[in-house]
This record gives sequence, C-alpha cells and structure tokens, in this order.
Amino acid sequence: MQMNANQWDSLWINACIATMQAGYGLLPNAAIACQNGQIAWLGPMIELPASPSTLAKNVYDLAGKCLTPGLIDCHTHLVYAGNRANEFELLLQGQTYAAIAKSGGGIQATVSATRSISEQDLFTVSLARAQTMLAQGVTTIEIKSGYGLNLETELKILRVAKRIGEVLPVTIKSTFLGAHSLPVEYKNDAESYIDKVCNEMIPAIAAAGLAQAVDVFCEKIGFNLAQAKRVFQAAKAHGLSIKCHAEQLSDMGASMLASQYQACSVDHLEFLSEPGVKAIAQSNTVAVLLPGAYYFLQEKQLPPLALLQEYGVPIAIATDCNPGTSPTTSLVLMMNMACTLFKMTPEQAWAGVTTHAAQALGLAQTHGALALGMQADFAIWDVAHPRDVVYQFGAAPLYSLVKHGKVVDMS
Ligand SMILES: [Zn+2]
Repeated sequence: MQMNANQWDSLWINACIATMQAGYGLLPNAAIACQNGQIAWLGPMIELPASPSTLAKNVYDLAGKCLTPGLIDCHTHLVYAGNRANEFELLLQGQTYAAIAKSGGGIQATVSATRSISEQDLFTVSLARAQTMLAQGVTTIEIKSGYGLNLETELKILRVAKRIGEVLPVTIKSTFLGAHSLPVEYKNDAESYIDKVCNEMIPAIAAAGLAQAVDVFCEKIGFNLAQAKRVFQAAKAHGLSIKCHAEQLSDMGASMLASQYQACSVDHLEFLSEPGVKAIAQSNTVAVLLPGAYYFLQEKQLPPLALLQEYGVPIAIATDCNPGTSPTTSLVLMMNMACTLFKMTPEQAWAGVTTHAAQALGLAQTHGALALGMQADFAIWDVAHPRDVVYQFGAAPLYSLVKHGKVVDMS
C-alpha cells in the first residue's frame, strides 16, 4: 500500500492496548494513531504500514505500557460549595442523620453554601475537583445540578459545569437534578415545587442548552413515583434524556418507571428486585452502580449483580462525587470497590467506566472504546495489564492522558 509520509498527527507504539471491545479486547505489542482527534489506525506493531517515524509527526514509544480508553465518570455531583467533613465527624461521634439535618446540616447545608457562593468561586472549587479526576485518567464527566433548588442557582451550577468543559480537556455532559431534594421554601408542598421544576425550570434550562438530561431522586426521602413521572414527561417534552436515582434505600419501582420512559440510566439500585431488572433489560437502560456511596454510608444491602448479569443489563460504575454520601473524585478507587464490595471482576469494572459508562451518557458511538473513527480519548498507565489499575487501590498509576488526539499537559 502506498503511504504518505507523516499521514497521522500522532502515533503511540509498543503499547498493550485494551480496546474494550469484547471484554478487555487486548492487543499486546500494538500501536494506535490519531488524525484530527479521531482514531485513524489501530493494530499489532507488525502490521504498521511503514516505520513509525515516517508515519506521524509525533511518535511516542510506550515500552509495553498499557493504553485504555479514557475513563468516563457517568454520575457525579461535582459542582458544589462547602464540605461536610464536620458531619462525618459528628456521625462517628454517634449523632444521627436526622439530628444533623434538623440543625441545618445534610443536603440543606450544601444548598445554602452553593446558593451563597459567587459563580467564580464555585467554578474555582469545582475545577480543582475536575482536575483531580483527570489526573486519574478521566476524559469524560457527567455533572448533575441539584444543590441550587431554585432556577437561579441551578443555572449557575450548570454554567459552571459547561465552563469546566471549556477550560479543561474533558467532555462534560450536564444533567438537571432540580428534583434532588425539597427546598425549605417548599416545605410540605412537594407538588408545588414539582410544578416549578416542570413548568419553569426544565423549559428554561432546555432553552439555555445547559443540560442534556434530567434526573430525579425517587425515594421516600426524595420524590414519589407520580412526581418522578411528571418530571420525566416534562423532560421528554423538551427533548432531554432521562436518568433516575432509583432503589437506593427502598424498592419504589422507580427503575421500572424510568425504563418505561427509555431512561439512559438508572443509578444506585441496591434495593432493585427482579421485575425492575427485567424492565431495565427490555429498555436499553444502563444500571449505574455507585460503590462509594454504599461504602461511605456503610450500607448492607448489595445491588442485585447476579440478576443484572443474568438479564444482560450493561453495568456502569461511577464516583457519585458529592459532599454528603460519596466525597471522592477517584474513579479508579471505585473500580476496586466494585470488585471488593460488589463482586465484579476487574474486566467488568473496566467495562463499567468505559463502554457501559459511555452508553449511560448516550455516547457509545464515539466514546468508551478504541476503534477506527472513535474519538481519540485514552489513558496510558504505568502497568503491563489493565487489571493492575483495578488492583492497586489508593493509587492511580497514570502515565499520560490523551484527549481528542492530544497529549494533556498534567503539570
Ligand atoms: Zn447521585
């Protein structure tokens, strides 16, 4: 075949590549090339059409290091102000959640802090969190609003999320979670608040183009099924995708309802039962498991992993990064916890932060796997096999990060 000199922008050689197509999809002694931000060539070294230095402007010799798709954190509440370390301490001293909430703590504390902070300061603290995610191999982040609970602050959060994607080499997908908790102004009047979410907030946010999806916390301490249904209908009417915090503390049937609305994902799922699993399986919905919240809340009820697998439901893993129940930015640690706490295999955990996480965000055609024409987002690890990344908990042996075909400056 006739090849043009320097036909590619960049070429990585001598890599152990996990394409994440059919399991790890491992290609030892392989190379990958990018052109205009997309994967232009991928295969064994011996099939390279010419010597590497003649093929690309930039050639990187990885000396056997492992190259994977960039990680996708498909469920975070990354943009918030304040922190709740004081509550963590109080809980460990024997105080109850109810007592803490009554004295102005809990989600209300984060809502107050997020309402009162300036947009610039909210951006600064949230950007720092996003940077720690990139330092662990993340190239795509979903960010939910939900700590404003009024239109002004929800818009502020979503603008900050968008700006993070403009200044960092990361893809941001934003989700409006106005139905996260009942704001104090609407105490004992959830119906009126849901009216506001459906009739004012969703239309305004959709018109501003600041969210691609809408989420609801459907739970006894959140919103009921009828209220969730109204929010889903409003989301559909405005062309937004659907997500749902479902079955975290009880089996409300929220997963079934969300699946009927073709939700992209249902998330948490510790109390999910078989009818719910069946409904998810029939609707192309991804099950997102959040081991950080399970760990931090010291829950005992495990999500129904065997049933989800039996019905062939794709399972994603995410940090749920939030100040109350999962104050972590480490998706790599979540992969380890998915194995130790939920009994997933390292290979399944990898699918959970790549292919399945991409599906949970509607990005499966372009992100989450390595194949010709897909976006050139990848992480390079200082290990010989992808399972080593899952095994080393508390560390993230990232060597280099590539976003849209360009090496990210991590200094
Ligand atoms: Zn969450």
